[in-house]
Amino acid sequence: MVFRPSSDPLPGSLRPHLQAQLQAQLPARPELVLVTDLDGTLLAGPSPWRRWLYRWLVRERHRVIHVFSTGRDLRSVARVLAAEPELGLAPPHLVISDVGCTVACGLSLEPLPLAIGPIEKLWRGLPEKLLPQLALIPGVASQPVTADRRLAYFVDVEAIDADLLRQLEAHGVDCLLSGGRYLDVLPAGVNKGSTLLALLDWLEVAPDQVLTAGDSLNDLAMFETGLASVMMAASEPELVAQLPRLPATYQARAEGCQGIVEGLHHFGFTALLEGRALDRGTRDRAARSLVSD
Ligand SMILES: [Mg+2]
Repeated sequence: MVFRPSSDPLPGSLRPHLQAQLQAQLPARPELVLVTDLDGTLLAGPSPWRRWLYRWLVRERHRVIHVFSTGRDLRSVARVLAAEPELGLAPPHLVISDVGCTVACGLSLEPLPLAIGPIEKLWRGLPEKLLPQLALIPGVASQPVTADRRLAYFVDVEAIDADLLRQLEAHGVDCLLSGGRYLDVLPAGVNKGSTLLALLDWLEVAPDQVLTAGDSLNDLAMFETGLASVMMAASEPELVAQLPRLPATYQARAEGCQGIVEGLHHFGFTALLEGRALDRGTRDRAARSLVSD
């Protein structure tokens, strides 16, 4: 089941409520929401392609909403942004971090109460129950690496007992192994996909205006939403094995930023890449070929 965080109903249009909690200015009429994982995706690929895509994101900021979607926590996202200006990576409009458990303004990196409130509610009381049990599981590092509405550990996947993880899930959490060495313990149903869908409700954009990109198992939930998605060439093998059941996901031949650009072309966003107005007819044809692929 996909959990979609919901708050108390708010009157009128939703986007102004989101904008009120954001320092980053959202485009009045966005033409694309580009949602990129960081490691192995936006931070990967040949340097000329990285420079090109980062510059394009700055140039098209008035019509392309950029969202980071990462397993990192906000402190770690801040370190990435501090380290990358030489290649030209600018802060995005929004950040989904902690594998979907945090949503923040891309400029201030301040968490957005409207988005994390419902997740906070699900998480309350769980760490107290889970921490003592996790400390006893062989193959799990004794201390969590981070703990923002989730617990994140380094693990030895050879030594870990999957049955013990299943027992933990009975407490209302999902255990997510990815990258061959990460374990995330998340509130049940919360992941990069569920949090993105909730955010798109606030942004009030149509599903065909969204492209997601990723390379590891914690990106699978984004691909399972059915939104147009691009899987990097050098993705985690367990993720690639899922491709046959992901009809809206295209596997790029290239890696990192070059793969993201390839995905944008594949899904009919060439005009945007070339700085021209988006041609509705071209996009519709791309959408039809996606369905018949
Ligand atoms: Mg990644």
